[in-house]
Amino acid sequence: MRVLVALWLMAAAVPLAAQKVAPVNTGRADRVFVGGRVWTGEPGKPLAEALAVRGSTLLKVGSTSEIRGLAGKGTDVVDLRGRFVTPGFIDAHLHLLGGGLSLEELRLDDASDFATVAARIGAWAKTHPEARWVTGEGWSYAAFPGGLPSRAQLDALVPDRPAYLSSYDGHTGWANSAALRLAEVTRSTTNPAGGEIVKDAAGEPTGVLKESAQQLVERLLPKKLPHENERALRRAIAQAAAWGLTGVHQAGISEEDLESLARALEATPQLRVYVALQMERDPTPEALARQDELRRRFATPRLRVGAVKGFLDGVVEGHTAAMFEPYPGGGTGLPRFTQEELDRTVAAYDKAGWQVMLHAIGDRAIDMALTAFERAARANGTSGRRHRVEHLEVPRTLDLPRFKAAGVIASTQAMFPYPNANHLEVYVPALGKERARRALAFKATDDAGAIQAFGSDWPVFTAEVVRGIATAVTRTTFEGSPAGGWEPTERLSVEAALRHFTRDAAYAEHAEQERGTLREGRAADFVVLSQDLLSLPPERIKDTKVLLTVLGGQDSFRAPGF
Ligand SMILES: [Zn+2]
Repeated sequence: MRVLVALWLMAAAVPLAAQKVAPVNTGRADRVFVGGRVWTGEPGKPLAEALAVRGSTLLKVGSTSEIRGLAGKGTDVVDLRGRFVTPGFIDAHLHLLGGGLSLEELRLDDASDFATVAARIGAWAKTHPEARWVTGEGWSYAAFPGGLPSRAQLDALVPDRPAYLSSYDGHTGWANSAALRLAEVTRSTTNPAGGEIVKDAAGEPTGVLKESAQQLVERLLPKKLPHENERALRRAIAQAAAWGLTGVHQAGISEEDLESLARALEATPQLRVYVALQMERDPTPEALARQDELRRRFATPRLRVGAVKGFLDGVVEGHTAAMFEPYPGGGTGLPRFTQEELDRTVAAYDKAGWQVMLHAIGDRAIDMALTAFERAARANGTSGRRHRVEHLEVPRTLDLPRFKAAGVIASTQAMFPYPNANHLEVYVPALGKERARRALAFKATDDAGAIQAFGSDWPVFTAEVVRGIATAVTRTTFEGSPAGGWEPTERLSVEAALRHFTRDAAYAEHAEQERGTLREGRAADFVVLSQDLLSLPPERIKDTKVLLTVLGGQDSFRAPGF
């Protein structure tokens, strides 16, 4: 159906183009790309040299001489000069609006010590005197002695107006005294359900707000206007194309932001976006009907609504990921559903034909998610919904085979094992030895036969795919530490990492018949890289540059000079 539509559009477009831009194309291909090293992602035929494109699809994948035979007068011939080509990258979990905004806002990523954090906040406050609030995100727990910041530190940097900064994972907020005053958070304020106002020994709020307690301040932040959001989305789309992405999965979005996204994609048609709406707890028939309406409205290969996403737990660093065994110091995290509530909710969406994506990080939350998926399929007599566990950070080893058995997708993030100070000094100790050994177990997940789709969770980590591949393959920082990698038995081959960012991510959005590998009839979505990832020493993968991104046969990004 989609192929027919594309051919019809092309048939209409070609004579017009031919009238305007001579010469007439006498070949069968509109564009050919020759003289490269092509990783197709196709199991029986992984390597080729050249591609022929007709309209928006691949006409043929083969040797340079075969493909040259399809070119005629008027065919655009691109010499790849030995460059490496892969299917277009697909990021299976990110947040486009947050990512776009992160390109413009105060960011504290890579600020690994308090001096750097302080310098960045101070500089931003100074250069933005007009901002009513100082806001930003990206701080890591390891930058603060004891793993958490304080309002006194922020008061010293921003004494004149409210300031509020989110942690890199979005689960913890850091407010100054002015922000707490506006939010009326005092020593007598009680914790909201599913959150914590951290207090010191004297009972005073420290400025740290965990999980749902962040809302106390966040609801006061100046709201972005729709045109500001749309501008950020357009920036995010262009940036994604520059990172070699042809597709992304938007992990949860409000209806209002979905409208902004649709407008942004119309103005900047450089990306395919698969969208998850927000999962409602025990959805009413009216809620399901409204979401179904959106699914019918946004159903093109460029913008497609097909999933709902919900949160089962929090994060490891905040001790809010739901675990079977306690954290050091006590507590097992906060599951946000009972099993019964979750079973009902998942079954309702499953029955209505939705793919359900559940954020589940702790072993207990992961077990709950799998149980709800298994029960929904049984209760409804459904199969092939490809429900997904998002993040899947600390699974029990015995739960891994359940993914294959129930056809559940393991949606993991390639840079989550990035072993920086935050990871080694806060994340790993919060887990303890036994759990750390089974955390972020990419190889064990593959070995259990699961379909594993890679994403970034941008803006939590960058969505620069070559950096994700480098991390999954080496499990070291880009400076090469620790030597040999953190939990090195879970390192992946380059092919496996590529597969998770292409074919498996396409599978995770029910699109593997159209995209994700390079073969005749598939979408002409591919990326040209500066180096051959398959023959490179792993420590050099991170230096790879994207030279060209092709989406549906058209360039969506071209590096200067290529
Ligand atoms: Zn996310």
